[in-house]
Amino acid sequence: MSELIISISGMRGIIGENLFPSTASEYGCAFGSYLKKHKPDTEKLKVCIGRDSRPSGNMLFSALAAGLCAAGADVVDLGLVTTPCVGIMVRHLGCDGAAVITASHNPIEYNGIKLLLDNGMAPPKTQAEVIRQMYLDKVFGYVGSIECGRICSDDSADDVHIEKVLAVVDAGLIASRKYKVVLDSVNGAGGRIGVKLLERLGCEVIGMNIEQTGIFAHTPEPTKDNLGGLCEQVAEAGADAGFAQDPDADRLAIVDEKGTYIGEEYTLALSAFNVLEGDKSGAAANLSTSRMIDDVAARFGCKVIRTPVGEANVADAMMKNGSIIGGEGNGGVIDTRVGPVRDSLVAMALVLELMAKKRKTVRDLARQIGGYEMIKTKAPADKTQAAEIINRAREEFPDAEVDESDGCRLDFDDGWLHIRTSNTEPVMRVIAEASSPRRAKEYIETVERIQKQVISG
Ligand code: MG
Repeated sequence: MSELIISISGMRGIIGENLFPSTASEYGCAFGSYLKKHKPDTEKLKVCIGRDSRPSGNMLFSALAAGLCAAGADVVDLGLVTTPCVGIMVRHLGCDGAAVITASHNPIEYNGIKLLLDNGMAPPKTQAEVIRQMYLDKVFGYVGSIECGRICSDDSADDVHIEKVLAVVDAGLIASRKYKVVLDSVNGAGGRIGVKLLERLGCEVIGMNIEQTGIFAHTPEPTKDNLGGLCEQVAEAGADAGFAQDPDADRLAIVDEKGTYIGEEYTLALSAFNVLEGDKSGAAANLSTSRMIDDVAARFGCKVIRTPVGEANVADAMMKNGSIIGGEGNGGVIDTRVGPVRDSLVAMALVLELMAKKRKTVRDLARQIGGYEMIKTKAPADKTQAAEIINRAREEFPDAEVDESDGCRLDFDDGWLHIRTSNTEPVMRVIAEASSPRRAKEYIETVERIQKQVISG
């Protein structure tokens, strides 16, 4: 039986196996107690909760809300909404915190709870660790009858979110192009709001898997192998673009007008292309993100700050630097004008606006900024072995520029290598990108050779 994972980004487990109503209610109580301790002047705490479309979402909502109420926090039920909606609503409603019930791109048997603070961002590492410890030590500040929290609902999240997205693009310009778009929401949380937004942008929308049943129509991660149906549909319909969301709609992958999957890395690069042309505040991206964003930034005379992997790290760097655009190479675009969270909705709008401004197709725009080969691999290695592998890799490439803020990233003239360990399993992830497929393969093979030597002792 697998174990419930409680990390700094929240809790994730398998329903009926290690994730139960009692787990969620205690987690809610720990979060409520934490907020109470850190906001002693708040008369009545308010926490909003949203959930993706998984069938277990209702059960977890009830349990989580009960735990929060027991700790004295009022709960606002946002209903079945996307993860970015929750990040926006926590600020919009002036809540003291928020929770999202989702297991993101994981299969249906999973679910999870992500926590957000009043700024819409995940708690920083040290605070996340305090909440985790309060949950494990069962430090619950139960209140008496009169102070118990109450639950109310708010169904305005989609509209609030859509208005925020429409405010950052020229909707009239996009609408004048009358784009035909296929949207695959994998029956997750993004279908309803995705269709609504695209219609507001004047698109003809062909919806695929937009019913929010939580019964995923294909393996939910929006990667190439899982989006054959979308590619076919785009080609068949003669659409201008295909968009694929993950179940909680914080990631977006793009299919070009020929029905070719262009990959998630392009989502951030194209969005940044649009924003940075008119804004010089620069961008932020994690260390595993393609160099395309650096090329785009350089084109407009600005820079990209690199951060450790994790949405909160990127959002934090963006806030400190005053950047509008940033995100992660897995299709997670953050536009701080909309919210400090990865958001497939704003990504769709920015890509469509770029197409409209430039009068170019997705394929032409991708060609204009692309041209790298990226390879991602995973190999067994515990923390000690990984440290040794990184040391030897650094010796192998003495001229590389080194960044050790998250594992080790080695930058070369023609590409880069990023080696990092996992917090949840004894594996090492290796990503290489280079201007030719041959070079990318060579970088990966070098690490594989070292890994074999280290593992075999
Ligand atoms: Mg997600």
